[in-house]
Amino acid sequence: MNKTICINPGHGGSDPGVTINSINEKDINLAISLYQAKRFAELGWKVVLTRNKDEDAPLSKAAKIVVNSEADICLSNHINSAENSNANGFEAIHTMHSDGKLANLILNNVVLTGLVKGRRVYSRESDKYPGKDYYFMHRETGKVQTIIIEYGFLSNDHDREVVMSPENQAILGEAVIKAVCKYTDAEYTPPKSALEDPEAWKKKDIDELSAAGLINDPDSWKQKVNDNMPVWAVMALVNRLRKMK
Ligand SMILES: [Zn+2]
Repeated sequence: MNKTICINPGHGGSDPGVTINSINEKDINLAISLYQAKRFAELGWKVVLTRNKDEDAPLSKAAKIVVNSEADICLSNHINSAENSNANGFEAIHTMHSDGKLANLILNNVVLTGLVKGRRVYSRESDKYPGKDYYFMHRETGKVQTIIIEYGFLSNDHDREVVMSPENQAILGEAVIKAVCKYTDAEYTPPKSALEDPEAWKKKDIDELSAAGLINDPDSWKQKVNDNMPVWAVMALVNRLRKMK
């Protein structure tokens, strides 16, 4: 089995992709891609990224990296937008020359996260080049099966909230990894990071405050991590901070 994966964070540098409320698509694409790169590496895959920082990444250059990657699969990560701000949901776009099995697996796994709706899985033929794919990254990436992934709509209030959160970026990115592992029969183990306990990030500060002597009994705080904090507790915390030298 070929355990090489190519990851293409869409856009970059002078091309921000979709921009809404000064949020740039390119940054979200990169964050999801870097998460996936780290996780695939943990799972023993060789990872080829078409960019690993915010830099210009013209399609022709990215496609060349994909072709030379010797991967069977390329994930091209994007965030969608539409004029109608009600448009929402996850899309996986596959080449006309594939059966769409991987794209469907990806969508089904992402829907299970409950974060975004499954909008559609599709392929699109070019008007200009009949018999060929509409999208460049499908048309120009040779034998590599490229899936263009639109995680949600930046133009939709709900989807935008979801895709902007680093925690959700990891959950969505992870769902795609799971699908790829299933499709390729590769071994999959869940991340040892915060994802095993989705609330772990909320509890990290409790440990740090406890270690710093600002709160007692960290375990009981962790149990009520989602409770509202009474005013006295906020005041007590602020007052202890105030007294710190
Ligand atoms: Zn895009």
